[in-house]
Amino acid sequence: GDAIRIGIVGYGNLGRGVELAIARNPDMVLAGVFTRRPPDQVATVSAATPVHGIEALDVPRADIDVLVLCGGSKDDLPAQGPGLAARFNTVDSFDTHARIPEYFDAVDAPARAAGRTALVACGWDPGLFSLNRVFGEALLPEGETYTFWGRGLSQGHSDAIRRVPGVAAGVQYTLPSDAAMAQVRGGARPHLSTRDKHTRHCFVVLEDGADAGQVRQAIVSMPHYFDQYDTRVDFISAEQLAREHSAMPHGGFVIRSGSTAEDVSQVVEYSLKLDSNPQFTASVLVAYARAVYRMNRAGQVGAVTVFDVAPGLLSPRSAAELRRDLL
Ligand code: NDP
Repeated sequence: GDAIRIGIVGYGNLGRGVELAIARNPDMVLAGVFTRRPPDQVATVSAATPVHGIEALDVPRADIDVLVLCGGSKDDLPAQGPGLAARFNTVDSFDTHARIPEYFDAVDAPARAAGRTALVACGWDPGLFSLNRVFGEALLPEGETYTFWGRGLSQGHSDAIRRVPGVAAGVQYTLPSDAAMAQVRGGARPHLSTRDKHTRHCFVVLEDGADAGQVRQAIVSMPHYFDQYDTRVDFISAEQLAREHSAMPHGGFVIRSGSTAEDVSQVVEYSLKLDSNPQFTASVLVAYARAVYRMNRAGQVGAVTVFDVAPGLLSPRSAAELRRDLL
């Protein structure tokens, strides 16, 4: 059939990743990037990618099948998602877990009224990890689900350490605790506190004349961000920071530890180890854009989540091929 035509709304880390992902999916073409900035200030990976002002989406367009919304969850998606869902099929990575029900409702009404399909809160968490939490609970009703994150760069915590007086630059990684992971994998089903599950590791470049001891103390005692965790702070040079810490790695684990009879333990684990969080997230969004396109054509409209998408719809291959080769 004809290629699926994708539009990218917002061109940050995720938008760039979607451009890369579309180039790796031969059944898709990139219709264009739509940005709030002056289009000539947005440098895309491929010089051939058309960049337009976002107002070009104020009317429905016959040249776009699905929009992938790449704005931030805090301010961009709540403002952009409902309006765009009234004119286009959409996929987004809204990841403020506590506000997903409210955001779902805000997108559902306009999408349903317009006969569009809007997949919200896709990506890996929420997204692939959510699916694995559902599998765990449904397949092993007696048990506990554990989600660990990392090793991963946390943007919010990195921003927080950069605001500490005496800090010139820095990054923060979240790491799952080895001891907690070992207990869970062994089928022990421990009760784990925040401090038990994750540790934090900071790499900091000091300003000239700053006191390392004072900076370390200010970081490890910072309320909410670090005071509930075991935090390690290493001081490095600006050169080392640029050389070793400019990627955006992430990942994590979803583990269901359950039992099917007394003393019969069943442990199921799903894990991700990502060199680039935004590029992987973008790859997930693009596969789900294919599913959204098909669901809309089949008449399934309104807001949906990963729980509503049949896995076969993610693949460019036919159902018969999937049965033959992958079942
Ligand atoms: P960015 O901050 O890189 O981009 C967000 C928006 O900011 C862009 O869409 C863009 O909009 C604008 N922007 C980007 N660069 C610039 C710039 N140089 N100057 C001015 N504006 C700029 O965020 P990410 O792409 O890293 O992440 C987007 C969201 O993805 C996150 O908020 C997070 O919620 C979500 N996410 C979800 C995951 C999941 O598993 N569900 C995993 C990872 C991320 P415009 O072009 O219109 O200016």
